[in-house]
Amino acid sequence: MYNKKITIVIPAYNEDEVLMNSVYRLLNVQDQILEKYEAITTTNILIIDDGSNDQTWPIIERLHNENRQIGGLQFSRNFGHQAALIAGLNEAVKTADVIVTIDADLQDDPDKIIDMMDLYFNGCDIVYGVRNNRDSDSWFKRTTAQLYYRILQSLGVELVPNHADFRLMSKRAVVTLLEYSERNLFIRGIIPKLGFNYGEVDYKRTPRLMGESKYPLKKMLALAWDGITSLTVAPVRLILILGSLACIFSVGMLSYATILSLLGLTIHGWSSLMVSMWFIGGVQMISLGVIGEYVGKIMTEVKGHPRYTIKSILE
Ligand code: UDP
Ligand code: MG
Repeated sequence: MYNKKITIVIPAYNEDEVLMNSVYRLLNVQDQILEKYEAITTTNILIIDDGSNDQTWPIIERLHNENRQIGGLQFSRNFGHQAALIAGLNEAVKTADVIVTIDADLQDDPDKIIDMMDLYFNGCDIVYGVRNNRDSDSWFKRTTAQLYYRILQSLGVELVPNHADFRLMSKRAVVTLLEYSERNLFIRGIIPKLGFNYGEVDYKRTPRLMGESKYPLKKMLALAWDGITSLTVAPVRLILILGSLACIFSVGMLSYATILSLLGLTIHGWSSLMVSMWFIGGVQMISLGVIGEYVGKIMTEVKGHPRYTIKSILE
């Protein structure tokens, strides 16, 4: 119960304008945590430099020299936000009991980490930071995000709406997450699969103070696409359904074309063309769908997700 360690993991890509300030603010939050919870005796900050080409790494080195509680990892090139998070979790879980991930720009309210800790001590292994409004987003980002989450949910992916990667996780939750070995990462779609008790903390997301978003449209679309294709094979099943519908339609077409041709209302060859077009089209789509089902099975096998997660063991 005692001597627990909390690590805050920060992915940073070209964040030299905000990093210093953010780290000082988080150190302050950690001091409050030390004061409030006797069980917490060690605090750490781990910054992952995701291949920045500005002063991000020199700043991390400087912070580390000032304060040994601050550590850093430097990627050889830009691997992306999700990869940086996984690398940070992988490193932090070696020593930490509680890990919080937060963006370097602190658009997510760092004071809420204290509320997250409350929930942790009340038995939550995962605490989601959930933004209660999207005022700080552009109209475009707001509507596309909302639409995207709705599509994902209708495809059967479990998600916490309005939650990104501001999150607290216990050691055992992180260990389980790391067993999910996919290369195409959409972490927020995996977390609800882990099980464990979870809680939510609401916060208001503020606009970025300095620098610009490191998520241009291209990266956003890539992440969104990974979310769909790595978490569900529903689109493949859609081909199968469409093909079956086309086949059924071809039967209707058969009777319709037969009647028309018996009544002498068609030109020669129309009926057979119409019927075979729908039928062949349908058969082809069904075949694609069946192949797709097997490809989908291969995908889930290759990912090698754990088949179950044990929460506790009594010995
Ligand atoms: N980030 C990263 N690698 C990337 C892009 C972003 O590590 O390739 C980090 C970035 O430094 C920040 C977090 O991911 O800490 C979220 O990025 P940002 O705040 O620019 O996204 P937005 O808030 O605009 O969605
Ligand atoms: Mg941001």
